[in-house]
Amino acid sequence: MTSPTLHPDSGAPQHFPVVIVGAGPAGLTIGNILRAASVDCLVLEMETREFIERRPRAGVIEEWAVRGLEQRGLATNLLARAERHTECEFRFGGRRYRFGYAQLTGTHHWVYPQPLLVTDLVREYADVRGGAVRFEVRDVALHDLDTDHPSVTYTDPETGQQQVVRCDFVAGCDGGRGVTRTALPPERAHISRQDYGIGWLALLAEAPPSSDCVLFGMHPRGFAGHMPRSPEVTRYYLECPPGDAPENWPDDRVWTELQARLGVEDRPPLTQGRLIEKRVLDMHNYVIEPMVFGRLFLAGDAAHLTAPIAAKGMNLALNDAFLLGDALVAYLTKGDGTGLDGYSAACLGRVWDYQEFSMWLSEVYHGTSSGDPYRAGTTLARLRRLFGSPAAGMAFAEQYLGKNADY
Ligand SMILES: Cc1cc2nc3c(=O)[nH]c(=O)nc-3n(C[C@H](O)[C@H](O)[C@H](O)COP(=O)(O)OP(=O)(O)OC[C@H]3O[C@@H](n4cnc5c(N)ncnc54)[C@H](O)[C@@H]3O)c2cc1C
Repeated sequence: MTSPTLHPDSGAPQHFPVVIVGAGPAGLTIGNILRAASVDCLVLEMETREFIERRPRAGVIEEWAVRGLEQRGLATNLLARAERHTECEFRFGGRRYRFGYAQLTGTHHWVYPQPLLVTDLVREYADVRGGAVRFEVRDVALHDLDTDHPSVTYTDPETGQQQVVRCDFVAGCDGGRGVTRTALPPERAHISRQDYGIGWLALLAEAPPSSDCVLFGMHPRGFAGHMPRSPEVTRYYLECPPGDAPENWPDDRVWTELQARLGVEDRPPLTQGRLIEKRVLDMHNYVIEPMVFGRLFLAGDAAHLTAPIAAKGMNLALNDAFLLGDALVAYLTKGDGTGLDGYSAACLGRVWDYQEFSMWLSEVYHGTSSGDPYRAGTTLARLRRLFGSPAAGMAFAEQYLGKNADY
């Protein structure tokens, strides 16, 4: 169903069937699905287009998510340019242990930096499918969500005037620091939180990867991770105290720690390079249930956050977007509300599974450095089981790849 729309600057209230708050992977995927069905929508984004096309974050995308993008005509560049990863490597005690998950399962990971995916999605949405989008908006607020006629207001960046957009549905896709989830009345939504009590220094280095796969370093001084992003750029992580300041980590200290925590006897030192991102993430998770209030449907990090321990957040955002985009199209074009009715429950199965896997993997990463010999002992037991038991290896591989078809 399409509805007449007014130009965003016309001054009069506009109407769009769907307003999407946030132009991240979730919001842009929903927008593309709606536009492919000729449903009008408006994306409201607080940053500039240039900013969202460069913001570095995720890189690992699961096979089912790539196929979901492909089915919706959104994976052409990804399939042409992304790398396939078939193994990961655990490093501890100065030795390395390869885990070939593709050999076990027949499925691999894709590595495609999030800024490239967002660039593809915004180009397809705005330039190819003719979707409406407003960048640099301020003061987004949601109104009358529990009626059939909700609306969204925002401040226009050019005129400074408040704009009113009437709509049928709002998709809250504004990430972990957005405003849409604050519109849920506390008595109608339950928020579960979990704080790991640790920080990760997230780094991007202008340096080629030092291995052909992801490396997990378990070290008494803290976890370290190596994640290839492209032939020229590598993401690294270093466990650090929560709330630590990036200024406490001059480049020399970063490289000394990375070399120590990821060093093994039979491999040369890591290839170093200029550090182009350095920020501390306080590792925490949350889940909001249900992900719906009236005409507001939350998707992606707005609804649930998983610390980047298991590289799951963007994959979950894409899963929500596929379900919500398809459900909105079914309702707005055929009057079929089944998908919208079941949306929250359909998302939350995978969400909770990935939350549990992140908790499990966190203990593997951080038990050795916890200072608690009991946790260090159980961490090593988990690793021995992973490499010693084919059944345990298969279970890990399925969770790592998000392969369970029955969430
Ligand atoms: C260092 C790091 C590494 C990661 N690695 C991985 C990985 O390898 N694999 C993986 O699956 N996930 C990973 N993630 C998680 C992944 O980046 C997120 O889960 C993903 O970006 C969520 O997408 P989203 O669309 O829900 O939200 P976002 O990408 O956060 O998009 C939300 C958008 O809303 C906008 N916005 C916010 N507030 C407002 C407002 N008030 N008004 C209008 N617009 C607003 C924001 O500017 C943003 O553009 C990583 C995250 C980090 C931080």
